[in-house]
Amino acid sequence: MECISIFDMLKIGVGPSSSHTFGPWRAGRRWIAELKRNNQFNEISTITVDLYGSLSLTGKGHATDIASILGLCGYDPQTIDVSSISSTIDTIKSEKVLPFNNELKIHFDPKTQIIFNKEFKDFHPNAITFSAVLKDNSNISSTYYSIGGGFVVQEERKRKEKKMEDFHKFPLPIQKATDLIGYCTSKNKKVSEIVLENERSLRSDEEIDERIGQIWNVMLESMYTGCHTEGTLPGGLNVRRRAFDTHKKLIGPKTYTNPTEWIEAIRGTTVAFRQILKWVSCFALAVNEVNASLGRVVTAPTNGSAGVIPAVMMYYMVIENHDANFDDIKQFMLVAGEIGSLFKKGATISAAMGGCQAEIGVSSAMAAGALTELMGGSPEQVVMASEIAMEHHLGLTCDPIGGLVQIPCIERNAMGAIKAINACEMALDNDAANAKVPLDKVIETMWETAQDMNTKYKETSEGGLAIKVSMSDC
Ligand code: SF4
Repeated sequence: MECISIFDMLKIGVGPSSSHTFGPWRAGRRWIAELKRNNQFNEISTITVDLYGSLSLTGKGHATDIASILGLCGYDPQTIDVSSISSTIDTIKSEKVLPFNNELKIHFDPKTQIIFNKEFKDFHPNAITFSAVLKDNSNISSTYYSIGGGFVVQEERKRKEKKMEDFHKFPLPIQKATDLIGYCTSKNKKVSEIVLENERSLRSDEEIDERIGQIWNVMLESMYTGCHTEGTLPGGLNVRRRAFDTHKKLIGPKTYTNPTEWIEAIRGTTVAFRQILKWVSCFALAVNEVNASLGRVVTAPTNGSAGVIPAVMMYYMVIENHDANFDDIKQFMLVAGEIGSLFKKGATISAAMGGCQAEIGVSSAMAAGALTELMGGSPEQVVMASEIAMEHHLGLTCDPIGGLVQIPCIERNAMGAIKAINACEMALDNDAANAKVPLDKVIETMWETAQDMNTKYKETSEGGLAIKVSMSDC
């Protein structure tokens, strides 16, 4: 049984993909740490990066090569100045010199030293191998697997022991939704209160609040940036940024100078059903346009699905409760993180393993449950809402055109957010005791569907829209 913190499920990073960008980036940094532990870092003479399976097939569109380089340069995805990324990469490409961990200068030509291999490794479809020749001419290599949501493991699962230790730190271990509901019932507590009890065993209240505050600030900033940036997304599909135009029509003549004033301005607009739909979609589109342009977003639980949770939280703040404050944001993130971890433990949050149901489906289930608690739902209604949201994403395939996290990904976030709100309302209107499909059953079903799904629909761009619509059509 794994111990997964909400901060494992909600992580600040850089787009466009948690498994194909964030994961390989972290793998590069982890390899550096491994080399340093083994006293091999200063002995490196040349480096080669091999990408396998889905990392290779959609790696170009998902910026896996760029992320690998940035990881090898030692940059932290949480803190890197995203505006400096393209000039850093251009310099490395033109000078063919890698500032390895920003300490050593090594000859490195990305064109020939990052190799896209079509074959798959057995352990997981997203594999990356770092190889090096040392100064004494010996060879070393390490393979990492990016298993979704920015999580990176090695086959031997070296970290398993540590994870088990962490698990024992949780006073209320949760593997399934029934465990969660059991604690809520026996302790007469909300889902967020149970999750908070577990988080407190890992870090102080101050740290929990600080980290949730940082997460929300990045979510808000990504919505704000996306709504105020026009133009075309990079990558060659010529996808026009749409949040800008939609936002302009919705906000009208209202004025504001920062994201906090912006929230107040939105609260002052007139909203009927159509406007609500458009606002929620606009928030989701905005985040994923920022994500597609290698901007900073919160992986929630992945980058491709990063727009759903902020859009639903923002919906609550600007439509449902104009007095919403940090406590609401905290409650929302605690529930969302826990629901996401149930899917990670019982199924997958990797599109390469389970298609888009594992990304947008999970983010929608996370948002649905979290919104339901904020709207006054019982713990049983929280899990019912999550179940409804996932039930109607089952079987959703991943077929990004050109391997870019743009079509269908960006719109799909808007759909996931709207479904989450609908799932919440349906759960709130029902007695959860009458629910026919338990959340644990839908998680099992999702996993079985993932295993049955043809590989061409699992982030390989070898089927679906990815082959029906070619880059030249765009
Ligand atoms: S189709 Fe879905 S799972 Fe695939 S890259 Fe896009 S958002 Fe991610």
